[in-house]
Amino acid sequence: MTIDLAAVGANYRTIRAHAAPARVAAVVKADAYGLGVGPVAKALVRAGCRDFFVADLTEASDLRGRLGGDCDIYVLNGLWAGSEAAAAAAGLTPVLNSLAQLDRWAGLGRAVGRALPAVLQLDTGMSRLGLEPVDVAALVRSPGRLDGLDMRYLMSHMACADVGDDAVNARQRAQFESLAAQLPPWPRSLANSAAALTDQLARGDLVRSGLAIYGAVPGPGLRPVVGLSARVIQVRTVTPGTGVGYGLTYQARRTEHIATVGVGYADGWPRALSNRGAAYLGEVRLPIVGQVSMDSMMIDATELGDRLQAGDAVELIGPNQTLAQAAALADTIPYELLTRLGRRYARSYRQDADAAIVGACA
Ligand SMILES: *Cc1c(COP(=O)(O)O)cnc(C)c1O
Repeated sequence: MTIDLAAVGANYRTIRAHAAPARVAAVVKADAYGLGVGPVAKALVRAGCRDFFVADLTEASDLRGRLGGDCDIYVLNGLWAGSEAAAAAAGLTPVLNSLAQLDRWAGLGRAVGRALPAVLQLDTGMSRLGLEPVDVAALVRSPGRLDGLDMRYLMSHMACADVGDDAVNARQRAQFESLAAQLPPWPRSLANSAAALTDQLARGDLVRSGLAIYGAVPGPGLRPVVGLSARVIQVRTVTPGTGVGYGLTYQARRTEHIATVGVGYADGWPRALSNRGAAYLGEVRLPIVGQVSMDSMMIDATELGDRLQAGDAVELIGPNQTLAQAAALADTIPYELLTRLGRRYARSYRQDADAAIVGACA
């Protein structure tokens, strides 16, 4: 697995130029979508990023240890009851998704006599996380509940930005506006990558970008980040009718060269690509034949004659098969494919030019 940190930094700067004057935060939850949060976050710091979103306290504490003190780290899922003191000690900024989360964080702020940084999330029609209109009304009735908080952003999340449903985006923006109008004039954060790239009205003051930074959203000037290749373990020639793989779901139609490649579903390579996906050698498409196994899969390399040998590498994600194409073939989304890769591969990072320079909060 190759991870191009120069492309990570370049993509961050591209999105920032596109979203200006909004700030751009990097979403590095789930180990930076499976790419390795340490190297990725440091490359982002070198590219000028100072705002990072993760999912939970465990990820946030880990990231704080890697970045030092100067960056803002936001916790998307908020805090479990009882973990507030640890979050405050680590200098984290929780996203407050409910009045209960808000009251506990504000209570700690009042107890320590210091306004604690926070983001307040509103649910504007996704039914996932955030205050509902009735909660906003309750807050408006007792604004003292905000004492002890240093509210950095009012936030929401779009349900349909990545599928480009403008009507839903517009409805969510309108709901956001009407709730925001009842609250103090805090800066706003509404857009993920897709919304930032396609819906100018959603940009607000802080964009939260993940997938575009990782090069998996088609967009002007965005570069691919991830490459994946695997090596051939063994090659055999089979006669017509010979079965291949578990369940013998494939039978050779002619005399075929079958190559066994050392990657399988335990590596995050989808089993859904059985008899469906492909690997590439250069531009030659080598169809996956039979079921993808746990640690290996077979490809039909007949077209290459004897040119594919044990030890050779074939491309799984790269110039001939993008992450998005592989995900689509597997009936999934780039997010899922990306976050499942990486646990088991040797990761090779291509460094950005500034890698030797210590970033401001690295
Ligand atoms: C994961 C996440 C993002 C990042 O979305 P991308 O589509 O990867 O840019 C932004 N905001 C929230 C609330 C998220 O959960």
